[in-house]
Amino acid sequence: MKRILVTGGAGFIGSHLCERLIKDGNDVICMDNYFTGTKQNVVHLMDNPYFELVRHDVCTPYFAEVEEIYNLACPASPIHYQYNGIKTVKTSIMGALNMLGLAKRVKAKILQASTSEVYGDPLIHPQPETYWGNVNCIGERSCYDEGKRCAETLCVNYHKQNGVRTKIIRIFNTYGPKMHPNDGRVVSNFIVQALQNKDITVAGDGMQTRSFQFIDDLIEGMIRMMDTEDSFYGPLNIGNPGEFTILDLAKKIIEMTGSKSRIVFIPLPSDDPTQRKPDISLAKQKLDWQPKIALEEGLKKTICYFDSLLQNQKI
Ligand code: NAD
Ligand code: UDP
Repeated sequence: MKRILVTGGAGFIGSHLCERLIKDGNDVICMDNYFTGTKQNVVHLMDNPYFELVRHDVCTPYFAEVEEIYNLACPASPIHYQYNGIKTVKTSIMGALNMLGLAKRVKAKILQASTSEVYGDPLIHPQPETYWGNVNCIGERSCYDEGKRCAETLCVNYHKQNGVRTKIIRIFNTYGPKMHPNDGRVVSNFIVQALQNKDITVAGDGMQTRSFQFIDDLIEGMIRMMDTEDSFYGPLNIGNPGEFTILDLAKKIIEMTGSKSRIVFIPLPSDDPTQRKPDISLAKQKLDWQPKIALEEGLKKTICYFDSLLQNQKI
């Protein structure tokens, strides 16, 4: 049994991770300030004496004797991270500093949830970890992109200067049950719109691409990364290389839900990346990992989840 801290543990990814870590027999502290996460996501774990929920902001130092830290605290959806850009930068950078400081003090391993957004609007396709990216440091997305890039810098420096066992993963677009129905991300938006027969809002001409990974594949990749040898600190891409245009995604969801929704085109937000697809050769080599769940199978489970929220009038 390991003592593990998960920051942002009440969010979409964090709650799935807590569930898996508890299932594997660990002692888990879930820390969250509930900005975008909710207790509802972890309420089913609360009866377990090895699960603790702590209301805390990662920007403030926190102390706990733990062996592993997964640092996930940070809003991930553009509408939420742009709501208060200064707070997003603080959460990424001060949060990483606090958690790296804790890892140093208690000699814990720490995994930093970075993002494909460090590649910005990529000029290399697909994106290998060696690509340095193309980020606008003063654009709409910069509070998130630059915050996450700086958090990576901190991890590498804590590793090299202080011998902290850091691990960086770059997560590509992930979807699945427990996404917030109003968090504005494309998969949740399209499914909720389709189930309600409302217009499907495709940004721009819908020809921009994303590669969508189902949550279970990501969680497996995260656990395997934490278990790699101490000398390997990443960064490592974790994503599904299946690439789809946003317009194709809209059509697929309409077809799968049997919806009467129409597709409407809305303005493309500035700096919206035109293409994104992970090169996962390194993850295959280092983790013996690759995604197992195809888009259609993952969408089916996610549609079921949102359908049940609607049936129970929770949306
Ligand atoms: P989410 O918004 O569902 O979860 C983030 C959690 O962090 C929420 O529970 C939120 O309340 C909490 N949080 C935010 N600010 C905090 C603070 N200052 N102190 C404590 N808790 C705070 O998003 P998610 O999709 O679960 O993302 C989790 C992590 O994975 C984030 O770091 C995100 O950048 C990263 N990531 C996610 C994706 C994706 O596709 N979902 C892609 C790349 C990276
Ligand atoms: N998008 C869209 N309609 C929506 C929400 C998003 O067309 O209702 C587009 C968005 O502009 C982007 C893509 O879908 O091109 C993925 O958006 P998301 O916010 O899910 O992730 P990110 O842009 O951060 O990869």
